Amino acid sequence: MRAKHLIFASLLTIGLAACVDSDGPTSTEQPIAIAIHGGAGTITRENMSPEREEQYRQALAYATEAGYAVLEDGGSAVDAVQAAIQMMEENPLFNAGRGAVYTYEGRHELDASIMLGETGEAGAVAGVTTVKSPIAAARAVMEQSRHVMLSGSGAESFARQVGLEQVSNTYFNTMERYEQLQRALELLREQDEMGDHIAYQENWDPAFNMGTVGAVALDANGNLAAGTSTGGMTAKRWGRIGDSPVIGAGTWADNESCAVSATGHGEYFIRFHVAADICTRVKYQGKSIEQASHEVIHEVLLPLGGTGGVIVLDAQGNISLPFNTEGMYRASKSNSQPLYVGIYANE
Ligand code: ASP
Repeated sequence: MRAKHLIFASLLTIGLAACVDSDGPTSTEQPIAIAIHGGAGTITRENMSPEREEQYRQALAYATEAGYAVLEDGGSAVDAVQAAIQMMEENPLFNAGRGAVYTYEGRHELDASIMLGETGEAGAVAGVTTVKSPIAAARAVMEQSRHVMLSGSGAESFARQVGLEQVSNTYFNTMERYEQLQRALELLREQDEMGDHIAYQENWDPAFNMGTVGAVALDANGNLAAGTSTGGMTAKRWGRIGDSPVIGAGTWADNESCAVSATGHGEYFIRFHVAADICTRVKYQGKSIEQASHEVIHEVLLPLGGTGGVIVLDAQGNISLPFNTEGMYRASKSNSQPLYVGIYANE
């Protein structure tokens, strides 16, 4: 069944030409750009109602425009990333913040990370249950602590101490995700009866994990930033943490190469430090972000069964949005490219 998910491929790269017509940017204008994702997986036209598709397209457009407005006003890449991600954390369509998936025990444990391309500063939280905006908490770790990653109740105490908004864990509840948990538990029980605690991954419905959000941005000062926020995988247990809060795996930014936010089967993204690997190929092998991200998503991950995608942005404003699943919720905008919103392959 998994092979079905692997055969679809899409690579979209939008090059930012330096010089365009008289109404557009000139070669002296600094590029500014943002790209976002709302998760990758089995997303097909057959499985999507027109109303639902429209909701996603609107949500992606709003989040992109929110981030782009920050850049247009001269704001920083990290502010743009946070603005776009927070809009998606508040939207129950996505598996981040409200709308996050449920754990095996029936609650929500959220992960997020953020990184600056100029300095390599980074922050992350893992397994937080009462922080309203995990991306804000990740940023606070970066800016207001001496650490890079805080987890669980310690991360929550820190978030409280720096004045971030707290909510009850039930704030993140949605009926759709609850129903997914029930289906996932049924599958797990069947597998457990067969004494198989691991193989459930093989029959896992990718929709159970879909909807992680992320953003990458380039500001007028030439600085890149990246961020990712997620509820992780439905029915996760034993304190499972995916790639999203892991710097180098789910999130990476380096002004000398690129900024990346990933979505997909986190275990693979951790093992192959996907986000950093893409930028390393750009930095040391002189590859374009299109080539480097294609290699990692299609040639490294795909043969091993690692499904997902990335959004990638370089300091020239080039954008690459490859994925090896049927679809990936994605959008981008720059000062030489109008708003682009995509869901399926080849659009
Ligand atoms: N990467 C996330 C995780 O493994 C899930 C996803 O992006 O779909 O937690």
